Amino acid sequence: MLSSSKQLFSQAQGLIPGGVNSPVRAFKAVGSDPLFIDRAEGSKVIDVDGNSYIDYVCSWGPLILGHAHPEVIKAIAAAALKGTSYGAPCRQEVEMASMICEAFPSIEKVRMVNSGTEATMSAIRLARAFTGKNKIIKFEGCYHGHADAFLIKAGSGLLTAGVPTSPGIPPEWTAYTLIARYNDLQSVRTLFEEHHEDIAAVIVEPIAGNMGLVLPEPHFLQGLRDITTQYNSLLIFDEVITGFRLTYGGYQNIAGIKPDLTTLGKIIGGGLPVGAYGGRQEIMDLIAPQGPVYQAGTLSGNPLAMAAGVATLRMLKEGHIYHILEQRCLKLVKGLAGLFADAGEKVCINHLGSMFSVFFNDSEVNHYETVMRSDTERYAAFFRAMLQLGVYLPPAQFETAFVSLAHEEEDIDRTLERARQALEMLPKRG
Ligand SMILES: *Cc1c(COP(=O)(O)O)cnc(C)c1O
Repeated sequence: MLSSSKQLFSQAQGLIPGGVNSPVRAFKAVGSDPLFIDRAEGSKVIDVDGNSYIDYVCSWGPLILGHAHPEVIKAIAAAALKGTSYGAPCRQEVEMASMICEAFPSIEKVRMVNSGTEATMSAIRLARAFTGKNKIIKFEGCYHGHADAFLIKAGSGLLTAGVPTSPGIPPEWTAYTLIARYNDLQSVRTLFEEHHEDIAAVIVEPIAGNMGLVLPEPHFLQGLRDITTQYNSLLIFDEVITGFRLTYGGYQNIAGIKPDLTTLGKIIGGGLPVGAYGGRQEIMDLIAPQGPVYQAGTLSGNPLAMAAGVATLRMLKEGHIYHILEQRCLKLVKGLAGLFADAGEKVCINHLGSMFSVFFNDSEVNHYETVMRSDTERYAAFFRAMLQLGVYLPPAQFETAFVSLAHEEEDIDRTLERARQALEMLPKRG
């Protein structure tokens, strides 16, 4: 067949680095070849070979309503008929901004950008300008997009300036990014004691979703709020995943904590490319043209993306949706836990709302080091078995899976049945 995934992938490898436009899509972490998707509807993606999969990647988070939700598609189509980009302000931007500011008590003003990466890199520029300080603290295992300042891993002695995780970043630049341990307030205090006069901001995923799902321990986030306040440093919540994922607003609404700045993306674009950053007015007013901090974008506030985002947020605001999502995810997670236990397979399943991660790990997973002790080979084998049976899980152990509103009871039941079969297919241990 001409258009099979295998053929497209080999063609793509000659044209696109690694054959993909974002690395994890290549399925390298699970020792497999990527699927090329032809179309998607509701809870399913259908590849170019005509195979249908129950999808728990959901485009890595944006599709909380499922694929091709009729309300979202209708909004995009209506917007497209009126032109795809103006390079001038439009009504939908105001509507989007008012929905975000209403949903997040900590956001008085918001600027739209085109990706989560743009949102976080702009937010730290702003934090540096506002505080007149240079350094930032990020946590090992948290992901904030691919800007230079964030592609840093912990140095040899953990609580030090980091080293670049990618070639192409001058090592001197990494002196401005300090690495702390997620769920370890003492590691943050130590960095402040050493560098307090020069730390502009602490940036954190309030729920860590990019090392698999790791939940904040009680007092961790409040502790960050207290420490940053004490040292006149800003607290940035990167809610690119968690914005509108767990409630109508961010995880900050649930935790009852007001960060100084918040970054958003994914869900607020309804499946189109979007990011946003917002916060207190006195900080946001430093951004050009109101203030001197430069940040711009040819397609920022794009009318199609705004239309898709506004339609998505309107649906989410109707209520009940978060409760339904949580119930479905809980049923799935409980079912999986039972199946893994019956099969004698040691896993730790972290979950919250409609997010979950199955760690092939025999201990509780709440720190980066325990995350890294997971059995990635075993996860890969489970992933491949599930894929063969028609269930599309994240193609790497260290990612979060998502349940969407389109995942009906029937999808959950089928997924559990497939998981039971997949566990039988795993190589025997020992
Ligand atoms: C996805 C993600 C980003 C980056 O967003 P892109 O749109 O991929 O640039 C930033 N922060 C978090 C927490 C994310 O999950």
